[in-house]
Amino acid sequence: MLPRGPLREGEAIILLDRKDREYLRRLNKGREISIRGGRIAVEDLIGQEDGSTIRSSMNEPFVVVRPTLAQLIPQLPRKAQVIYPKDIALILIWADIFPGAKVIEAGVGPGALTMALLRAVGSEGSVISYEIRPEFAQMARDNIAAFYGPAPNWTLKVGDIITDLDEVDVDRIVLDLPDPWHVTQKAWEVLRPGGILLSYLPTVLQIKGWVDSLKEHGGFAYIQTMESLLRFWHTKERSVRPQHRMVAHTGFITLARRTASVKPKP
Ligand code: SAH
Repeated sequence: MLPRGPLREGEAIILLDRKDREYLRRLNKGREISIRGGRIAVEDLIGQEDGSTIRSSMNEPFVVVRPTLAQLIPQLPRKAQVIYPKDIALILIWADIFPGAKVIEAGVGPGALTMALLRAVGSEGSVISYEIRPEFAQMARDNIAAFYGPAPNWTLKVGDIITDLDEVDVDRIVLDLPDPWHVTQKAWEVLRPGGILLSYLPTVLQIKGWVDSLKEHGGFAYIQTMESLLRFWHTKERSVRPQHRMVAHTGFITLARRTASVKPKP
């Protein structure tokens, strides 16, 4: 479903109040949306242009927009932590996710990264996701269906990537698991030469374990670790300055390039 044209039944929308606070809702026909003590009939939203202003029964104005991924991800129904938009932005460019790519990811959790990967690979590409916990796999299926739409190029495998990883000729692998070093050898086997392997890890000891395993393996080059500190700004009248609060820590990104051959041990 292309995110353009008038708003359609079944879509997710964001309502923005006067202070730009965001409210995620769905356009389910026959329903009313409750918001800040007022109501808006879904029928009054269906067919409106993206970006229209609508008033609730309390006469409060709201701007209605289709959610961007950055707006949607923090609001996704979830039982596990999602990767934040600021880190997903970095992952897409540093793992060099391109239209047509064959990408593997694990684990899936609520499916935030999955949606971004599906978008970036486009209809010519494919995403294969491994999730060990069946209930999380179901949550991801529900979230993708509700907030992304049909994804014929998405394969969700319920299993442990450490034991079950079995694709061939993969362009990119993105790991969001606590112990990625158990995947290093298999990742090398399934990645094509020149492919990229990326891990998202919250703590320094995990980075150390991950980098050590890549070096010890000998089949990876260009190992890099990075983090992103994103600071939003308050811009109101003459008060133009950084916001007082920011998310200080999420996770680190460590990536490597699969080489054509494994370096012999000295
Ligand atoms: N990247 C996701 C969040 C993943 S949370 C997002 O952006 O929304 C981490 C997930 O990894 C959990 O759902 C957990 O069940 C799963 N997981 C942990 N170890 C795994 C393994 N060995 N194989 C597959 N999935 C695993």
